Amino acid sequence: MRTPLIAGNWKMHKTLAEARELVAGIRAGIDKMPADADVQVLICPPFQHLFPMAKAVAGSRIMLGAQNAHEEPQGAFTGEVSVPMIKDTGATHVIIGHSERRQLFGEKGDRLARKVRTVVDSHLTAIYCVGETLEQREAGQTEQVVRKQIDEVINREVRADRLAVAYEPVWAIGTGRTATPEQAQDAHAFIRKRLAATLDPASADSIRILYGGSVKPGNAAGLLGRPDIDGALVGGACLVAEDFLAIISAASG
Ligand code: PEP
Repeated sequence: MRTPLIAGNWKMHKTLAEARELVAGIRAGIDKMPADADVQVLICPPFQHLFPMAKAVAGSRIMLGAQNAHEEPQGAFTGEVSVPMIKDTGATHVIIGHSERRQLFGEKGDRLARKVRTVVDSHLTAIYCVGETLEQREAGQTEQVVRKQIDEVINREVRADRLAVAYEPVWAIGTGRTATPEQAQDAHAFIRKRLAATLDPASADSIRILYGGSVKPGNAAGLLGRPDIDGALVGGACLVAEDFLAIISAASG
């Protein structure tokens, strides 16, 4: 079965001192959990915190990821960070195609496909984000939008064992408005069906599909209890150790 993955997307939050304090709190809570708790935990701090956070999580079960990466391994791309540089830090995951990257930085289609390929070809795991806007949901276009986002990036050349998908309805991100467990489950089941058609049923069955969009301690269990919801990509609530820990506990129990 798929082990749940709880991933924290810190976005552009936390100074180094604050980051150390947050990780110490998460680590202390996780150390108290049963060693065989069936859950994986990932933190995705800003790039410049990756090295110090690698030290802060060393020896714990907390994994490290980046929030974005450039599609080229090196070159004249001022201000960008490459996958090999991310790999150097000990990070194992990279979020690609977050809706803030799509909306604020114009990332889409072919560029995201190249980013995902670069990540998985470098033996890291890509967490590829998809999701519709409120306008698209209200126009009944959710499946059409998500299908396009999947089809333009995921194909047989992308290794399934290095891929996770995050369904993040844009209208639920940072808004306090969460998809109901039923809405999320329907979207996740649709994504899995699409992955089965694009890859193959066994791969689709093995790929974790995370839900993201205002996941909080109070709604996590309801979402994570649904059959196709294999974890969460958490924004706001991952910035407070006790909230993030409560979501991790909801996934493991
Ligand atoms: C996110 O940034 O991926 C996210 C889901 O944020 P929030 O949990 O704050 O809605």
